[in-house]
Amino acid sequence: MKILITGGAGYIGSTIASVLEDNGHTPILLDSLVTGRREFVRDRIFYEADIADRAMVRRVFSDHPDIFATIHCAALIVVPESVTRPYEYYKENVVKSMEFFRLLSELGYNRVVFSSSAALYDVVPGFMVTEESPLRPNSPYSRTKYMMEMILSDFCSAYNLKGIALRYFNPIGADPKMRTGLHIQFPTHLIGKLVEVALGREPVFYLTGVDWPTRDGSGIRDYLHVWDLARAHLNAVERFDSVIEAEASVGTPYSVINLGTGKGVTVKEFIAAFEKVYGQKIPVSIRPARPGDVAGAFANADKAARLLGWKAELSIEQGIADALRWGQVRDRVIHY
Ligand code: UDP
Repeated sequence: MKILITGGAGYIGSTIASVLEDNGHTPILLDSLVTGRREFVRDRIFYEADIADRAMVRRVFSDHPDIFATIHCAALIVVPESVTRPYEYYKENVVKSMEFFRLLSELGYNRVVFSSSAALYDVVPGFMVTEESPLRPNSPYSRTKYMMEMILSDFCSAYNLKGIALRYFNPIGADPKMRTGLHIQFPTHLIGKLVEVALGREPVFYLTGVDWPTRDGSGIRDYLHVWDLARAHLNAVERFDSVIEAEASVGTPYSVINLGTGKGVTVKEFIAAFEKVYGQKIPVSIRPARPGDVAGAFANADKAARLLGWKAELSIEQGIADALRWGQVRDRVIHY
């Protein structure tokens, strides 16, 4: 099947393209390359354009009228940047997605898989969240994802769209075949920083926050191998109609599904796992929590198992090993 991936030259979009291709499908990439990488396009069908470029989106569908579904990954995703540049985040993510969804509806290409985020959830006792858990997005970035979910859901109830919103927990690792991986040159998140220290690009790892009400005081998250995350999209498109059917009782052809391992891991536990894989100690220095940081959450992933027939298979250790390998080859794949 042909599947359109917006943001198909990004970290997650390009991994999804590889999973689809490896399973006999044809990914069609739409990416503005504002943050995506040309190197990740490889030999794939590619349109270099913004999702708000109506003429180009129309052309994609007239060139490929047999596109089965759209996976909408394109977005700005850097939380601190969203705090200082909210206009850009609301415009690029919310306004442009809304117009894009409207065009998909007009053109009659009604199956949409949307990249959402676990950053929507409020902190709950025990830290495990289901899709029904309370939401409290606490940054402009996560509020854009929240708004995009609401727009998609309302469009699905009013127009002809059908939507599956996938709430991603924390992706780690890279394509196991090293075709693609995290392309941010100066990462700020946990695994990115640990790899920087391991590769000698930074002298010390700053552990931010040790006073959370978790089992060891450090933040808790659900770290998911990006290959597993991408595989869930394969299942979402292949089972699209049955997922929507299963939600028929709710009345709206729209479904929200958590994508996580179902296991909460603290930062201290993650560092211990990292050191085991890396084979050396990481110099750690304790710092206060980052502004806007939260204790965290991990997924109840039962709905993904039930509706998508999917569960995470790769271990945290595998994710760490792949992130380290990618860290070593990255500058040969990407030409900054
Ligand atoms: N973290 C840390 N040092 C870093 C980066 C992250 O201790 O250099 C901690 C952070 O405080 C949080 C966890 O690692 O508890 C996950 O942070 P990340 O930015 O990877 O994910 P997010 O907070 O967006 O879920």
